[in-house]
Amino acid sequence: MKAGAFDYVRATSVADAAALLVRHGDGAKLIAGGQSLLPALNLRLSAPAILIDISRLPELQGVSVTPTHLRIGAGCTHAALLADPLVAAHAPLIPRALAHVAHPAIRTRGTIGGSLANADPAAELPACALALGAAMVLQGPAGTRTVAVDAFFTGLFETALAPGELLVAVEIPLQPGAQWGFAELARRSGDYAMVGLAAHGVPGALRLAFFSVGATAILARRTAAALAPGVTAATLGAAVLALAADLPEHADLQASATTRLHLARVLLRRVVGAWAEPVREAA
Ligand code: FAD
Repeated sequence: MKAGAFDYVRATSVADAAALLVRHGDGAKLIAGGQSLLPALNLRLSAPAILIDISRLPELQGVSVTPTHLRIGAGCTHAALLADPLVAAHAPLIPRALAHVAHPAIRTRGTIGGSLANADPAAELPACALALGAAMVLQGPAGTRTVAVDAFFTGLFETALAPGELLVAVEIPLQPGAQWGFAELARRSGDYAMVGLAAHGVPGALRLAFFSVGATAILARRTAAALAPGVTAATLGAAVLALAADLPEHADLQASATTRLHLARVLLRRVVGAWAEPVREAA
């Protein structure tokens, strides 16, 4: 299928994009890499009257580090982040996860901002943002505000972005010494995951973000609490049991709720079990 007719405008700045969003209202859509939006247009799942192109805005580019956090511009492509030394040094979870996102051609165009704003429950980057405790920097006609990731993903393909707002950057707190891990199970390399886990933190402050388990990625808080004393065979066993209370019963064409819980438990043992050698032997 082909997309319906639409107008097109290239924004000259973030402020210009926000003003265009306000002027055109519900009929307008931002386009960054187009790797989620264009398939939706071609399938006629979305029919905007006008596309506002933000793919070439310098304000949305760049990765920088401050004494407290890593800042990633929303317009950075997946490929750029895979090659970025600051991301590799301060948030290695992101490149590890990005290796599972689609294929090189899609990673060349797709952006972190597009993936987070799209809020696909099976996407890797929203789960990484959740695991990393990121802050979302939003800019709209009323100015700039920051939303904690825990409040950003509000539902299936829904976020806290208000009308007229853009995601301009993601800020990730620096946590030297934090443990991290990532794993997903997909039918084929590059497919969206049937179940995935992005994990980050230290015992007592672990963030275990499971994805493709419901309407949004989910922080498994009871499971993390079971691991608070540290990772041992006993705490990992308790965490595996606790996971049932953290995850919603979610069935779809890919897997039943029972299979999905089983796979999530397998991933938990793989990712967290790898942090403690004796546990890995016992698992
Ligand atoms: P776009 O498609 O341009 O936009 C997506 C949505 O976000 C639109 O609603 C747009 O208006 C909005 N948006 C974009 N930027 C902003 C912003 N800065 N502020 C506010 N709103 C904004 N993704 C995965 O995570 N895992 C996969 O395994 C995967 N597999 C894929 C396989 C195929 C064949 C394809 C075509 C895509 C796949 N994707 C996958 C999606 C891909 O990663 C996209 O690049 C990404 O989800 C969206 O980024 P984008 O820059 O292309 O966004």
